[in-house]
Amino acid sequence: TKEKQPKPDWLRIKLTTGGNYAELKDMMRSKTLHTVCEEAKCPNIYECWANRTATFMILGDICTRACRFCAVKTGLPTELDLQEPERVAEAAEQMGLRHCVVTSVARDDLKDGGASIFVETIKAIRRKLPLCSVEVLIPDFMGNWDALRAVMDAKPDILNHNIETVARLSDRVRAKAKYARSMELLKRAKEMQPDIPTKSSIMLGVGEEWDEILEAMDDLRAVDCNILTLGQYLQPSPNHMPIARYVHPDEFAKLKEEGLKRGFSHVESAPLVRSSYHAHEQVKSAEEA
Ligand code: SF4
Ligand code: SF4
Repeated sequence: TKEKQPKPDWLRIKLTTGGNYAELKDMMRSKTLHTVCEEAKCPNIYECWANRTATFMILGDICTRACRFCAVKTGLPTELDLQEPERVAEAAEQMGLRHCVVTSVARDDLKDGGASIFVETIKAIRRKLPLCSVEVLIPDFMGNWDALRAVMDAKPDILNHNIETVARLSDRVRAKAKYARSMELLKRAKEMQPDIPTKSSIMLGVGEEWDEILEAMDDLRAVDCNILTLGQYLQPSPNHMPIARYVHPDEFAKLKEEGLKRGFSHVESAPLVRSSYHAHEQVKSAEEA
């Protein structure tokens, strides 16, 4: 068996608690909302919240899938909370968000995969916070393209769907998701609303080869995906997929160059980058592109 590799220095971060962090945390409790920032113990939380960016997880905290890298609980969800969009919008307002990311578990138990709740959430945030940009990070809706169309018609500022890993490892790393279906989703989203930037993410350190990363970038560009994020996979618990290796920051920097060369309008590539990291800046760069 492989020995556990020590965590490299570049993954140790200094935590600086921003002034209003505790206050925001309490507010989140009182509204019984879930943020990915807190639940995934995201290392960027202080920076993001100080920059008025947060990621809400809607449609409950139990997922119908069980991806090997993911800390979310698996089970059969029972709740469908129709008040949730309003509560998310209220929380976003109280946090004074400038960029709000909305994501969800995979609700394969629902006919539209939860798309209608995404739509209502986008609308509710628009009503309360007209200046806040809204990014949706959606599941694949099992290839239900009508569900995708409903989300695109609500005009999010960014449509994000993660491929998570390279083609060869996709079936092993993700449960039920398909590499080709994710590419098709990104392609169709762009066809439905050509002006809305699309975005995807790959986590590194799960066993992918350098050339496979470049191929995944080419595949994403072939469906006109505009924004790419690359970060280090960190194992959420000993029961999750092990880390194959720690990717050096220099490699992340090289990959950023490779991405920009291929025509992505924005690439975030560093060990601690998460899908929504610096997302507010991506709205700007996508508009300028
Ligand atoms: Fe939240 Fe995303 Fe920022 Fe992490 S990177 S703190 S999940 S907004
Ligand atoms: Fe986690 Fe999403 Fe996979 Fe569900 S579908 S287990 S939330 S990564």
